[in-house]
Amino acid sequence: MPTYTPPLRDMQFVMHEVLNVVDELKMLPAHADIDADTINAVLEEGGKFAAEVIAPLNQSGDAEGCTLDKATHEVKAPKGFKEAYAKYVEGGWPALSCDTAYGGQGLPHVVNQSFYEMLNSSNQAWTMYPGLSHSGQWTGTMCLTEPHCGTDLGLLRSKAEPQADGTYKITGQKIFISAGEHDLAENIVHLVLARLPDAPQGSKGISLFVVPKFLPNADGSLGARNGVFCAALEHKMGIHANATAQIVLEGAVGTLVGEPNKGLQAMFVMMNAARLGVGMQSLGLTEVAYQNAVAYAKDRIQMRALSGPKNPDKPADAIIVHPDVRKMLLTARAYAEGGRALAMWTTLQLDKELGSDDEDERKECADLVALVTPIVKAFFTDNAWIATSHCMQVFGGHGYIREWGMEQFVRDARINMIYEGTNTIQSLDLLGRKVLGDNGKKLKKFAAIVTAFIEDEGTNEALQEFVNPLADLGDKLTKLTTEIGMKAMGNADEVGAAAVDYLRVCGHLVFAYFWARMAKVALAKKDSGDPFYTAKLATARFYYAKLLPETASLIRSCRAGLAPLMAMDEALF
Ligand SMILES: Cc1cc2nc3c(=O)[nH]c(=O)nc-3n(C[C@H](O)[C@H](O)[C@H](O)COP(=O)(O)OP(=O)(O)OC[C@H]3O[C@@H](n4cnc5c(N)ncnc54)[C@H](O)[C@@H]3O)c2cc1C
Repeated sequence: MPTYTPPLRDMQFVMHEVLNVVDELKMLPAHADIDADTINAVLEEGGKFAAEVIAPLNQSGDAEGCTLDKATHEVKAPKGFKEAYAKYVEGGWPALSCDTAYGGQGLPHVVNQSFYEMLNSSNQAWTMYPGLSHSGQWTGTMCLTEPHCGTDLGLLRSKAEPQADGTYKITGQKIFISAGEHDLAENIVHLVLARLPDAPQGSKGISLFVVPKFLPNADGSLGARNGVFCAALEHKMGIHANATAQIVLEGAVGTLVGEPNKGLQAMFVMMNAARLGVGMQSLGLTEVAYQNAVAYAKDRIQMRALSGPKNPDKPADAIIVHPDVRKMLLTARAYAEGGRALAMWTTLQLDKELGSDDEDERKECADLVALVTPIVKAFFTDNAWIATSHCMQVFGGHGYIREWGMEQFVRDARINMIYEGTNTIQSLDLLGRKVLGDNGKKLKKFAAIVTAFIEDEGTNEALQEFVNPLADLGDKLTKLTTEIGMKAMGNADEVGAAAVDYLRVCGHLVFAYFWARMAKVALAKKDSGDPFYTAKLATARFYYAKLLPETASLIRSCRAGLAPLMAMDEALF
């Protein structure tokens, strides 16, 4: 069975030694009293909960899956899930970063996000049940997808008919709804996209409704069963323990959220948060896969090192002596630690966006969060697919065998590239909307942060091995962006041709920036005798030497443009 140790030391390094989150958070009225000890203590407890209560249910949940009783439409999650959820609620975990005025713990989002990384390392499928809600007593879903539409929600057909009492009767079919039905909580609140009778066609005619499984009575107690049912559960590649439900709405009572026909905008508030959440799912899987692959690579003996025996007392060397095994391990480690730094920085910007009393700062942070959200979603999830696959490969044939748990990480990681908007859609959002659609304003804001760092460290000799390639990539990205923008004026399909590679170049630029910042701290402390800093520096060097060069081929591919993709007539495929 895989093991998991919460990476508390690395979390503390990023929070307190790289980002200095406490100083930044203290500037926000809601967190004026925050201190490092509180943050560390919460993460330690959160890590214990994840590793001791949630992680042991990961493999058994995957093997058992969920079961639907077709007569009652009720779904049972795997054994132990309900009890673990009760402990989660009892511990106050659902509302860690919610406002104390509403019963929350009032902690910063950056703490909650790190807690979620640990939950996802422990058990992504379980973590998806409470993933969209904070009440504890009830859970929530997002009901967007229909059989004929996923990416293009403008095509959706579910209907909402106004009733005399101000509610709506919702009719339609939704598919692929995560945690759509289960027995963990007493009620499930579905957020459903549907069309009003007079709605315009396309995405401008979609409204958002709250449709609870049980309609609450005036006193908040559970009332009548609403007409929203699970018709079937999907059989799927991974996250078996999460119920992916086909949801049928048969005149279900719904309440309009926000304004009519503005449902998609309202839904995006939740979707943006969920996209960051998907990034955290993949970060969690990258970390846990890495931990288990390292343990195996130190233990498994196979062949001698090419340069001669490293452990002559044994009949063969541990596979960690082989350069390519190290490459696979370091790739996963560099993606996990780089991702953790970006995730925490992004969430810190979110804390400032939501909590600053300075309007300009709120706007600045909102722009930065908007810019990096598609990168967190797509770059982390693509990287996790690479990393979990590498970590499985470290196990050789044993990685492919269920009992080791490595193939589950690969299967679970794959969905993260698809849902919450496929990674292609994320790349179009980044290049089309956030960069070109905004005349590069948001990108320039991030570029200014990178430039300031490069200028500050211009005379730091020891850091030049990081600063120079970072500055070089920044220049190349600026030129590339202008080039694609010019081409796109001639043919908008040029955006679609470049977007996926472009997002990966941006992902590397952002990672390179955070790796340079982490290397700076590690360089300053490497003589302290703490091997943590030696390892950090070695990983930073690995990232710059072995992973960052991928940008050269990505840029070439971007520049090759649309023509090679469109040259072949559709009939020839
Ligand atoms: C396990 C699981 C859980 C899910 N959970 C939820 C949930 O809780 N709630 C919910 O509402 N949905 C959920 N989904 C649905 C998911 O969000 C959609 O599957 C996803 O958005 C893609 O939609 P689609 O499957 O219809 O694919 P399509 O939209 O048909 O896309 C097919 C392919 O075409 C590509 N494509 C489409 N348009 C473009 C374009 N303009 N440019 C380039 N490429 C394009 C896509 O990237 C994709 O590769 C879930 C799906 C799964 C499998």
